[in-house]
Amino acid sequence: MFKWYGHRSLASATRISAFAAHLRDGRIMASRCTRCGTRAFPPRADCDACMGGAFEFVEISGRGHVHTFTTIQAPPRGFEAWAPYRVGVVDLEEGGRVLAWFGDAFGDGDIAIGMPVQIVPRVLEAPEDLHVVCTIEPPGTTWSKRAARPGTAAAIEEESTP
Ligand SMILES: [Zn+2]
Repeated sequence: MFKWYGHRSLASATRISAFAAHLRDGRIMASRCTRCGTRAFPPRADCDACMGGAFEFVEISGRGHVHTFTTIQAPPRGFEAWAPYRVGVVDLEEGGRVLAWFGDAFGDGDIAIGMPVQIVPRVLEAPEDLHVVCTIEPPGTTWSKRAARPGTAAAIEEESTP
């Protein structure tokens, strides 16, 4: 199930693999321990507060603030086609942090530490491939399945899909 989550996925089968299915459907989920109620994002199958192994998914808003950001000029292998690209770490209002790419709505100089943002799942569909990623967008941006604009990272990914 995780094979279509992100560009490079190292987790093919985990107890939280349904996280990717929720993202595909536009929902960002945290986990909540059914024994003690501790929430975690990213979701955890095993509770780090009580060591319980039972959890449920709870939807979170995706709202947060930019903790830090950078522009990747020298990308790791497999990401060369996207460089330069901007990534950021977002502190979520409901706890937890997300590392994600900035969406196309932000131009150079538009990003600042502390600014409010919205994490949005994005589905990138190509004829024989499907990827789900999260992007950092302006507050209030809602999830939608949308076609990639020419020249954007999403379009480059679609063009490079065999
Ligand atoms: Zn617990």
